[in-house]
Amino acid sequence: MTAPDATVRRPALLVVDDEPPVLRAVQRDLRGRFGEEYRVLRAGSGAEAEELMRELRRRGEALALVLADQRMPGMSGVELLEAARGVFPKAKRALLTAYADTDAAIAAINRAQIDYYLQKPWDPPEERLYPTVEDLLGDWQADAVLSDPEARVIGHRFSPGSHEARDFLARNRVPYEWLELERDPEAQRLLDIAGIAADRLPAVFLRDGSVLEAPTPLELAGRLGLPTQAELDFYDLVIVGGGPAGLAAAVYGASEGLRTVLVEREAPGGQAGQSSRIENYLGFPNGLSGADLARRAHDQARRFGAELLTVQEVTGLAARGPQRVVTLAGGEELAGHSVLIATGVAYRRLDAPGVEALEGRGVYYGASLVEAEACKGQTVVVVGGANSAGQAAVYLSRKAGRVLVLVRGDSLEKSMSQYLIAQIAAIENIEVRTQTSVAAAEGDGQLDTLRLAGPDGEEELAAASMFVFIGAAPYTDWVGDRVGRDARGFVLAGPDVAGAADHRWPLERDPFLLETTLPGVFVAGDVRHRSIKRVASAVGEGSMSVQFIHQYLADA
Ligand SMILES: Cc1cc2nc3c(=O)[nH]c(=O)nc-3n(C[C@H](O)[C@H](O)[C@H](O)COP(=O)(O)OP(=O)(O)OC[C@H]3O[C@@H](n4cnc5c(N)ncnc54)[C@H](O)[C@@H]3O)c2cc1C
Repeated sequence: MTAPDATVRRPALLVVDDEPPVLRAVQRDLRGRFGEEYRVLRAGSGAEAEELMRELRRRGEALALVLADQRMPGMSGVELLEAARGVFPKAKRALLTAYADTDAAIAAINRAQIDYYLQKPWDPPEERLYPTVEDLLGDWQADAVLSDPEARVIGHRFSPGSHEARDFLARNRVPYEWLELERDPEAQRLLDIAGIAADRLPAVFLRDGSVLEAPTPLELAGRLGLPTQAELDFYDLVIVGGGPAGLAAAVYGASEGLRTVLVEREAPGGQAGQSSRIENYLGFPNGLSGADLARRAHDQARRFGAELLTVQEVTGLAARGPQRVVTLAGGEELAGHSVLIATGVAYRRLDAPGVEALEGRGVYYGASLVEAEACKGQTVVVVGGANSAGQAAVYLSRKAGRVLVLVRGDSLEKSMSQYLIAQIAAIENIEVRTQTSVAAAEGDGQLDTLRLAGPDGEEELAAASMFVFIGAAPYTDWVGDRVGRDARGFVLAGPDVAGAADHRWPLERDPFLLETTLPGVFVAGDVRHRSIKRVASAVGEGSMSVQFIHQYLADA
């Protein structure tokens, strides 16, 4: 076992294997590539590794990754990685396996939620070891940076303004610390020093010493240096919406030489960014969080030179001759040869007495991961029977005491993927109630009681939080009359344009596959009529759209 070096504070990587030559070889290879930023420690057994981790913990040091061999006497790699989660919950955990053990490793990975597996031998390491470890460390860093906050947010837990500020910071990956006025004595002390009254919350204390009182997301973005203004006067491609479809178009557009700008009204990632774990996206056998997907896509688009403007809402679309122009909420305009509509969908609101008044005060739409932390030990309710509700239930079950999933229909089978149904069945503190809906929500300034209507009549339930996932409607109010939509507001494209009753296609050529009734304006992802509503299809359409935009530009 190598002892932790108390004088150096670099985060540690820990490799564990009972075969000394293998152990030395992994340590050597990892040091060669990551030695400058990380200390590479080793242990010859699970027991030694556990001791070493506890020692690191006692010293308050960081552990970024544990890489453990599966076949070890005494304690298997999976057992050790499960134990590692208790000591360093944020450390990435990967299994080292022989080819013959791959199936067993994948099963164990699903069970123990391990981040990845690597196969022995890993030669050449440039291809078979470093890329995976780099990815894992990138994800760890994105999470770990939260321990060094950029901002401190002080507010009331059940205040929509505080919720909005925290959600904005979390989704834009700005490390922040949350101080709840009711629970944290430090919060009142800071407010007194800054002379901020309780009706001006949330207050955001920035690293440079300045304080913002009840800031809007746009103010926060400006002060934190997030890009909100376009750099060019004219673009080849203006993308509206920064979910998977928009981000994919930004990556392909910019990488293929188009001057590309993406406008997003909240934070990159879209609905996918709210997902605690996307398990069915190709190439990520153990799933990845929506936040990680959004971060990777955002960085990739930036690397190719796309401009990404956040906290800017698009409110209008017009055609001026060959130019396509979008208007932002503040009145500014962005002009380009082409526009991609990738504005996705938003959750439908739950229509029951009392619900609207409690939105942001215990009633949340989407997985609102920032609120999940506050649910420790409590009863929380998830409304909905589709995959998004299932994922949220699984995620919340790790924090909450009890999760009640309310489903209108008589089973989950029709609406949820089988893998999620199986996961939910295996989690003890999740209870699924079918044929049950919310009849009313009550609470004085914050949710405290729900009235449920079930097959046996009405029932009262004490609950401080309810997360609602009941279907979605498209964000298309802004697209104007020249872009044809179906009766529900989804945008028509390609072959569907011919059937668009009020919109005559103006050109001799047929519209391209993802082109709308307005030539040069394309659509991709969930917002499209008859779209599939999956991350992979949104990504596929976003990337395909760039191909059609090239053809449009060539013809124009
Ligand atoms: C909790 C949850 C879990 C999910 N899990 C999975 C899963 O495991 N696997 C899977 O395949 N799919 C999953 N989905 C579905 C998947 O996330 C969506 O199909 C996908 O995100 C659609 O991508 P999109 O880019 O078309 O739209 P969206 O993701 O909806 O993104 C649209 C973006 O446009 C922005 N926008 C909207 N209007 C404007 C405007 N006027 N101006 C500027 N910006 C605007 C929005 O803020 C948003 O960021 C999940 C969805 C949710 C909510």
